[in-house]
Amino acid sequence: MAVVIANAVIGFIQEGKAEKAMDAIRHMLAPHANVIRGGKRISIAGEHLVPGDIVLLEAGDKVAADLRLITAHGMSVQEAILTGESVPVEKHIEPVPADVPLGDRSCMAFSGTLVTSGQEKGVVVGTGAHTEIGRISGLLSEVGTLTTPLVKQMGAFAKWLTVFILLIAALLIVYGYFVGHHNFSELFMAVVGLSVAAIPEGLPAVLTITLAVGVQAMAQRNAIVRRLPAIETLGSVSVICTDKTGTLTRNEMMVASVLTHQHRFVLEGDGYAPEGTLRLGDVQVSPHEYQVLEELALSALLCNDAALHQKDGVWHVEGDPMEGALLAFAEKMDVNPRDLQAACTRTDAIPFDAKHRFMATLDHDQDRRALVSVKGAPERVLAMCQNQRRPDGTTEPLDAAYWHQQADLIAAQGQRVLAFAVRPLASTHTVLEHRDVEGTLTLLGMVGMMDPPRPEAISAVRECQEAGIRVKMITGDHAKTAAAIGKQIGLQNTDTVLTGAALSAMDDGALRQAALNCDIFARTSPEHKLRLVMALQSHNMTVAMTGDGVNDAPALKRADAGIAMGKKGSDAAKEAAELVLADDNFASIVAAVREGRTVYDNIKKVIGWTLPTNAGEAMTIIVALLFGLTLPVTPIQILWINLITAVTLGIALAFEPTEDNTMRRPPRAREEPLLNGALIWHVVLVSVLFLCGVYGIYSYAIDRGHSLELARTLAVNTLVVMEIFHLFFIRNVYSTSLTWKAVRGTKVVWTVVTIITLAQLAITYVPLLQPIFGTESVPFRDGLLVIAIGIALFAIVETEKQIRLHLKAVDRQDAGHRDSRN
Ligand code: ADP
Ligand code: MG
Repeated sequence: MAVVIANAVIGFIQEGKAEKAMDAIRHMLAPHANVIRGGKRISIAGEHLVPGDIVLLEAGDKVAADLRLITAHGMSVQEAILTGESVPVEKHIEPVPADVPLGDRSCMAFSGTLVTSGQEKGVVVGTGAHTEIGRISGLLSEVGTLTTPLVKQMGAFAKWLTVFILLIAALLIVYGYFVGHHNFSELFMAVVGLSVAAIPEGLPAVLTITLAVGVQAMAQRNAIVRRLPAIETLGSVSVICTDKTGTLTRNEMMVASVLTHQHRFVLEGDGYAPEGTLRLGDVQVSPHEYQVLEELALSALLCNDAALHQKDGVWHVEGDPMEGALLAFAEKMDVNPRDLQAACTRTDAIPFDAKHRFMATLDHDQDRRALVSVKGAPERVLAMCQNQRRPDGTTEPLDAAYWHQQADLIAAQGQRVLAFAVRPLASTHTVLEHRDVEGTLTLLGMVGMMDPPRPEAISAVRECQEAGIRVKMITGDHAKTAAAIGKQIGLQNTDTVLTGAALSAMDDGALRQAALNCDIFARTSPEHKLRLVMALQSHNMTVAMTGDGVNDAPALKRADAGIAMGKKGSDAAKEAAELVLADDNFASIVAAVREGRTVYDNIKKVIGWTLPTNAGEAMTIIVALLFGLTLPVTPIQILWINLITAVTLGIALAFEPTEDNTMRRPPRAREEPLLNGALIWHVVLVSVLFLCGVYGIYSYAIDRGHSLELARTLAVNTLVVMEIFHLFFIRNVYSTSLTWKAVRGTKVVWTVVTIITLAQLAITYVPLLQPIFGTESVPFRDGLLVIAIGIALFAIVETEKQIRLHLKAVDRQDAGHRDSRN
């Protein structure tokens, strides 16, 4: 009873720990909302919304409260969660009758639904339990229970093992009683002992805690696991397809070049601070000398949704960093955003979309004059233009060749190029449509923005290469910009860049090859990501794919490990992803892969350590029964070993840190089974050694004339000592265990070893406990012998491992020679 209760308590504490880890993660995934408070746009936690707040929404956002819409441009919302209707419904601001059903309340946006397109503003009318979703359900939790396919598989394996063992036990009783003519009660106890010995009771609990530790470790490295199976998948990732902007680069943009017809200026500055000098060649110039610069700054301000704030002397962006950079640019051109905001009002807008790569706004000034401002990718905007502005403010027909050539020059320096164009409209024009911007615009100029690579991304890419993981960059940016950044980041193949247009022209067969050879994909649209994932998967690769926009969701779902950006990512992308990056950083993906590999290794270690222990004990009893020997360990002692020492020691493996060479091994194959040949061989080898150890010391004790109790005490202690030495062995399955680092171990290892040693001493020497466990005090010299057996076991398995590692190294060298000769 005591043993069972102790086991239940240990299990309970573990589960509690696991639950806590999951709770913390749920908290990290809580939604955010962009609101206007005190006239300023800020981002707040969804739970801080109150009725009356003005909330800004755009495509990809999850609505955080029930809203009455006050502006809506081309808005549609996916309301399946409320209405079951899977097709997005359109929203506008006209009132509807009070009694229409939920699905027809088209002037409302409801909490929990996803914005699929458009841009809108709404006022909060209900939060929390007072929302429609709050009324029909409690909190919908995103994160499921703590299990993965592998752990489920192990659970099933443990169940089948149990049934199998109980069957064997029944057979043994029948055999022992009718054929061996054993005493029934003795036989029964022995068979109970066998069942306890063979069934790995502690295994599921230890596996669960291994996962929980992994989830926590990933969260600490800014990788939040939304679906637990991702932990396993991450460990086997063989190719990572990543965004460029903000993931490989810092996403702290600054306008560094300004291009007008006839001039290419260089703009200096520091971050988002609104001061910096303008140069033409080596000469400092004033923006006022060139009229077109002011016009360029004006459209950079009008076609903009971001805001800059100064906090502690440092300037920060609220919104898209690129638009923040444009605000700073405008101020450097001596155009004040506040004056302009007072003078103009936005009447309509076409929001930026990764598919069409431009954004347009329609503004009316105080004299009711209407102006369309467009900014976007150079090729896209050039295609919409008819004329161009000269530096002195006059207009002439477009010289497209000049602009293309100059844009390429700026892009080749790794800068992101953005073009600006305008068109005046009749003041009666209040609705902006795609046909208003096509073909008739006047190009003002272009800007080139610097976005330096993250230093930690550079080292993370190198780490991937060592770990046999390919890194591919997929970006909406210009091919030249992408290639320049790819070079700085250290991608392997930066000579060939595949563009979205070329990709669209390929059939699946051609893409299959191109996806493998090419590392940089530029000017891509979200649907290209999906095709790339499938092309890579057809090579049997495990694909991790990052994404942030609404349209990335299908690719994220299809990828083996979909990764969403926590900061700039849309809620739609997060919902589709397995993993969310709290810091949008490529290095965090690699950290997650490392943790994924560690968790998988640790699961393997837990199993590789637990199974031989169980099998060794079970074989001890079976041998005794079959040969009619006295049991060298009693059922009570077996219970003790299995439920207390094995579980406690096993937990140490859940906390094992990453082994040194974890990221120097190639990724494991997708279909590699957990119980592979090497693991089964290890289980057999160690079980046999356990058997030899137990019978060895037992027969030695009997030969010496020791009592049966003392012989059994020695056998029990030998088993536990062998377990401990085996634990130190299994901690380093891929390298030698004979280094100072390996011996020093971890705090957890030494804690559990100390606890178990004290417990073992207690049941061996404490007079009160001796009758319960049927033990006797062990003489000092025999005690030393017990430890010597442990050391012998360690020496044997370590030698076996060294030979194996050596043979493998020789093999690899041979393969290397063969390769180099070929
Ligand atoms: P990335 O993959 O680098 O994040 P995006 O898909 O965000 O690329 O952007 C692709 C291109 O679209 C950019 O190179 C830029 O020219 C243009 N672009 C990006 N954001 C905006 C925006 N807010 N307004 C107008 N054009 C934009
Ligand atoms: Mg982007």
